[in-house]
Amino acid sequence: MFKALMMEKPEGAEEAQAVIREISEADLPAGEVLVAVEYSTVNYKDGLCLSAKGGGLVRNYPHVPGIDFAGTVEASDDPRYSPGDKVVLTGWRVGEAYWGGYAQKARVKADWLVPLPEGLTPREAMAVGTAGFTAMLAVMALEDHGLVPGKGPVLVTGAAGGVGSVATAILGHLGYEVAAVTGRPETADYLTALGATQIVPRADLAETVKRPLESETWAGCVDAVGGEMLARVLGQMSYGASVAAVGLAGGSKLPATVIPFLLRGVNLLGIDSVMQPYENRLRAWERVARDLPMAKLEGMIQPATLEDLPKLGAEILSGQVKGRVVVDLG
Ligand code: NDP
Repeated sequence: MFKALMMEKPEGAEEAQAVIREISEADLPAGEVLVAVEYSTVNYKDGLCLSAKGGGLVRNYPHVPGIDFAGTVEASDDPRYSPGDKVVLTGWRVGEAYWGGYAQKARVKADWLVPLPEGLTPREAMAVGTAGFTAMLAVMALEDHGLVPGKGPVLVTGAAGGVGSVATAILGHLGYEVAAVTGRPETADYLTALGATQIVPRADLAETVKRPLESETWAGCVDAVGGEMLARVLGQMSYGASVAAVGLAGGSKLPATVIPFLLRGVNLLGIDSVMQPYENRLRAWERVARDLPMAKLEGMIQPATLEDLPKLGAEILSGQVKGRVVVDLG
C-alpha cells in the first residue's frame, strides 16, 4: 500500500474534494512502466486539477493530479526501461486526463517518460518542472534560429515567474546579456542574481503598438506574457531576430501588425511543452542538466508534502506561490 492524493467526487456531488488515501498497485491505471515517484511540483494546471470543479481539465473521478513527476522505475514491460532507472515525466496530459504524480507510485506509458540525464537528481528535475523545461525549449528554439551570444540583449518577459526565472538563469549562464521585464521592482536583486544584466520595468512595454517598428533593440526574446506586450516587442526586435512565444500571462490576443515580419524578417516561434516529441524532450532535459546552474535554483525551492497540496493549489491559482514548489513524496 502507498499514499496518494485523490480528488474524489461522490455520486451526485457537484464538487470534488482532495483526500489522502492508501491505495495499492492494483488501483493504478494500465501502463508499461511502474515508477516510484520521489518528487513532484505545483503548476497552475495542478491548481486547476486540485480545485473543486477540476478547472475543466479533469473529466473522470477519482483522479490523481500532478502534471510533473520524477522518480525511479520499479517495474517495466518496455525494453527501454529497467528497474532502478531514474525518469522524469512532464506533459502528455498526465495529471489532467490521466493519473499523475501526486502519489508514491505511478503507472504510465513508456513513451511519456524521459530518462533523467546524468547530473540531474529527481528533486532538481522537479525544481525545474514544466516551467523550466519550457524555458529550455524556448532557448533551444531561439538558438536553432541563429541566436548566439554577443548579438545584443535577449529580452525575457514575465521574468520573475517560473518560466521567466529559469530562462533568465539559462541565458545568463550561456553568456547572453539578459534584459528581464518585470512588474515587480522588488524582484530586481533576485533577477540580477539569476543572471539578468538589465531590468526593464513592465510599464516600459505596457503601451499598445503606436508605431509598427521601433528601434532594433533585442537580439531575441523569451515571452511568457503574450498580449499587448508581445505585440510591442515584435516591433523592437533586431533584423532577423526571433521571439519564442511561451505564455499568455498578459493575455491571449495579439494586437500586432505584420510589418516586423515583412520589413525586418522577425520570426515568431511557438513553444509547446505538452506534446513535444521525444527526441526534443531528451535534448531539452540534457541541456537543462548542462546549462542551468542548479545552485541558483536551490534558493527558489519551497519544499512541500502531499498534505500541503490542497492549500498550495488554491495559492497558485491566486498568484501567491513564490519560487518553485518541490513536493517530496518520501
Ligand atoms: P507565472 O505565473 O509563474 O509567471 C508569469 C509572470 O508573468 C508573472 O510572474 C509576472 O512576471 C508576469 N505577468 C503576470 N501577469 C502579467 C500581466 N498582466 N502583464 C504582464 N506580465 C504579467 O507563470 P509561469 O512562468 O509558470 O508561466 C508563464 C506562462 O507560460 C503562463 O501563461 C503559462 O500558462 C505558460 N506556460 C506555457 C507552457 C507551454 O507549453 N507553452 C508551459 C508552461 C507554462 P513579473 O512579476 O516578473 O512581472
